[in-house]
Amino acid sequence: MRIHFISDLHLEARRPDISRAFLHWLKNDALNADALYILGDLFEVWVGDDLSDDFTSNIISSIKALSDSGTDIFVMHGNRDFLLGENFCKDTGSQLLEDPSIINLDSRPVLLMHGDSLCTLDKEYITFRQQVRNPQWIENLLSKPLNERQQIARQLRDASQSSNQHKQSDLMDVTPAEVEKIMEEHGVSHLIHGHTHRPAIHTLKLGENQQTGTRRVLGDWDQQGWVLNYLDGGFDIQLIPYPDTALEN
Ligand code: MN
Repeated sequence: MRIHFISDLHLEARRPDISRAFLHWLKNDALNADALYILGDLFEVWVGDDLSDDFTSNIISSIKALSDSGTDIFVMHGNRDFLLGENFCKDTGSQLLEDPSIINLDSRPVLLMHGDSLCTLDKEYITFRQQVRNPQWIENLLSKPLNERQQIARQLRDASQSSNQHKQSDLMDVTPAEVEKIMEEHGVSHLIHGHTHRPAIHTLKLGENQQTGTRRVLGDWDQQGWVLNYLDGGFDIQLIPYPDTALEN
């Protein structure tokens, strides 16, 4: 059994290095995998499934090709692409995965999350998240014309970037107590999430029995590709260097 976990690619047209590396990885390394889990923020921004341009069409058809070849593909919403909808899933042959979700890896339950909901010290963000994940708010937003949605998305991104600049580093990370709480609630000793761009393997003690838990944090794709592989009952990490575009050109 071979399963891949990725998140935080933040694909956008102005970063062709990232999408090139991703598409190459999809067509080569990911081929014949049993499953691919995309745990949020595949895209830097997503304003609705009705946006169609060459950049997104190329990504969609490449994911579809992997799906058609027999790999099960699961997509979780991130804080940037939570408007990914049914049409995206249909077009890519993927299934939308609730945040959080539990999967079984060789009968070991593993909790999957994007990770933003674990950053509970950032009260401002948690309030914002509640607002924008409200189905009514989403329905209202999606009823607006595409260019208006793009403008709103730009404003939200600028506001988030300027407010994040002033936040303490620990505000931008998960809250340890929240991690323990959610893992205990779901009765799991394994958690995989992204979002924080702080790839690591953390061990922690859970519950009254102080059972050992493991929290694996996926890396983002800013400087290199980052994949968590589950193969033959164990995990390993694959880093994908981007080709030197200066040499290429
Ligand atoms: Mn995120």
